[in-house]
Amino acid sequence: MKIAVCVKHVPDATVTKRIDPGTKRLDRSGEGALNPFDTQAVEEALRIKERDGDGEVVLVSMGPERALDSLRKALAMGADRAILVSDEQVAGSDLVATSRVLAAVLEREGADLVVFGQQGGDSDGAVLGAAVADRLRRPIISQVAELEIAGGKLKGKRQTEFGYDVIEAPLPAVVAVSDAINEPRYPSLKGIMGAKKKPQETLSVGDLGLEAGNLGEAGSRTSVLALNDPPARGDALKIEDDGSAAEKIADFLAERKLL
Ligand SMILES: Cc1cc2nc3c(=O)[nH]c(=O)nc-3n(C[C@H](O)[C@H](O)[C@H](O)COP(=O)(O)OP(=O)(O)OC[C@H]3O[C@@H](n4cnc5c(N)ncnc54)[C@H](O)[C@@H]3O)c2cc1C
Repeated sequence: MKIAVCVKHVPDATVTKRIDPGTKRLDRSGEGALNPFDTQAVEEALRIKERDGDGEVVLVSMGPERALDSLRKALAMGADRAILVSDEQVAGSDLVATSRVLAAVLEREGADLVVFGQQGGDSDGAVLGAAVADRLRRPIISQVAELEIAGGKLKGKRQTEFGYDVIEAPLPAVVAVSDAINEPRYPSLKGIMGAKKKPQETLSVGDLGLEAGNLGEAGSRTSVLALNDPPARGDALKIEDDGSAAEKIADFLAERKLL
């Protein structure tokens, strides 16, 4: 089975996020990393391939040239090859424009299964998988915590607020996995050494036959109107535990009629 996994290069979680006041976009110029939620997507694809004993795992990403570093991390985990769409014309793309670019690559690849992570660790939309599935006219099962594939069908146990839904869909299909689905493997030293030699293709918008007017800011359906810092925290009260901390906390809450 051919499996495509969409992975995103995001600002490293340890770096304080900064909004560029000029563009009102997240400043992505600093240290980056593979979106942590996408390591579960890569892991699940690798497990399906290993279970089947054959197949291919192709990584697909849209982002700056530096995104190749994150793609190499996923290649080191075991994916077979990587495709990066990197082009000035996609800068400023919102979810709608991003879904257009990823769908174009996925149409070209024609994978049996497309796997997304739960959410982008920087934008947290958690909807890109659905937007891409809609463009591809394929079924999607999101928040999948357990996945079974047999007889050309996909069965996903889907986490909900009150329990689980079990949903079946025919292949080809799209899934967005929850972060509870598996424990991603660490790349081995051999995997890291071999990653650089695996096929890595960088595409431009022109290579995909996409029109610039449908991409970037021009092709986006949302725009950021204003950004504000979160309100400053009020004075904090620090209670040292000398044995009476619980009582002091209870009194504090009772005074404010919170108990
Ligand atoms: C006005 C506006 C301007 C923006 N400008 C930029 C910009 O210049 N540069 C920029 O990077 N972002 C930009 N963004 C953010 C960008 O639209 C989102 O990062 C992107 O659409 C993915 O959204 P998300 O992370 O919320 O996706 P989610 O829906 O949370 O992601 C779900 C899954 O989709 C996959 N995925 C997400 N993004 C990608 C990707 N790029 N490539 C491959 N797979 C992916 C991953 O599997 C991820 O786990 C902009 C957003 C807005 C609203």
